[in-house]
Amino acid sequence: MKVFHKINPLKDALNHHRSNSRKIGLVPTMGALHKGHASLINRSMNETDVTVCSLFVNPIQFNNTRDLDTYPRTLKKDIHFLEKLGCHILFNPSVQEMYPYPPVVEFGFGEMEKSMEGAFREGHFSGVALVVAKLFNLVKPHKAYFGQKDLQQFVIVEKMVKDMNIDLELICAPIIREESGLAVSSRNQRLSEAQKALAANLYKALQLGQQLLAENHDISSVKREVSNFLSQWQDICPEYFEIVNTCTLKTVDYMEDGKEVALCIAAYIGSVRLIDNVIFKK
Ligand code: AMP
Repeated sequence: MKVFHKINPLKDALNHHRSNSRKIGLVPTMGALHKGHASLINRSMNETDVTVCSLFVNPIQFNNTRDLDTYPRTLKKDIHFLEKLGCHILFNPSVQEMYPYPPVVEFGFGEMEKSMEGAFREGHFSGVALVVAKLFNLVKPHKAYFGQKDLQQFVIVEKMVKDMNIDLELICAPIIREESGLAVSSRNQRLSEAQKALAANLYKALQLGQQLLAENHDISSVKREVSNFLSQWQDICPEYFEIVNTCTLKTVDYMEDGKEVALCIAAYIGSVRLIDNVIFKK
């Protein structure tokens, strides 16, 4: 695997692949790689000729310095992990390389960023969109792979790609879970075993919500039941539980036949903030 820390050599290598008509796949990550990331990398390796994994903890998408400072950084292990998967290129720029001066461009996504992650993490999606747009411009991938785990992020990136006519195919890959149902996440490294067991109840809450929707309960009673379910555990501090339209991300007040919704949750377990979601269609 070739490792690039600088933009220009990365571009030269990719120009060479492009001139040989090789299809390029990009998997953007913030590192502390796990089997969720591996599923995206494996998919890219199956569907394209050259897979680029980017590893960059993007400071401008964090609005909480503690979260940024404590974000796990495990570069050596990550390189080994990617080599074992057979990934072709790792792009691991410094903050200085990505932002030689403070960026002035900001993105706004209107209603789409008013709820959930956008509501609780001000400026988050502007930071995500800027780094993703930069990566798309640098790598010029044919395909880019994202996880359903960050559903709001995927829908917003999809919108940006459409609005800006960026010429690539976006892929949204399913959430990889532990046996307990806990969505795999880099942040899980900061949980004790007991906390991990507790965190698995977030998925149980989503499953309960899904089951109640299937039984035709109305949205407000589903929200109430899910909230009651989670209130059994003092050490789970829910931040939000929303049921949203998967295209617009607007909260839905009632279920319509054939319309897809996502049940999305964010909660703190100790100081660790976790998110998860499931998609439901009636
Ligand atoms: P991150 O490093 O957390 O920014 O994640 C990089 C990419 O991996 C994002 O597109 C995530 O949605 C995706 N991802 C994270 N966790 C999982 C998971 N458990 N299953 C599938 N994809 C994931």
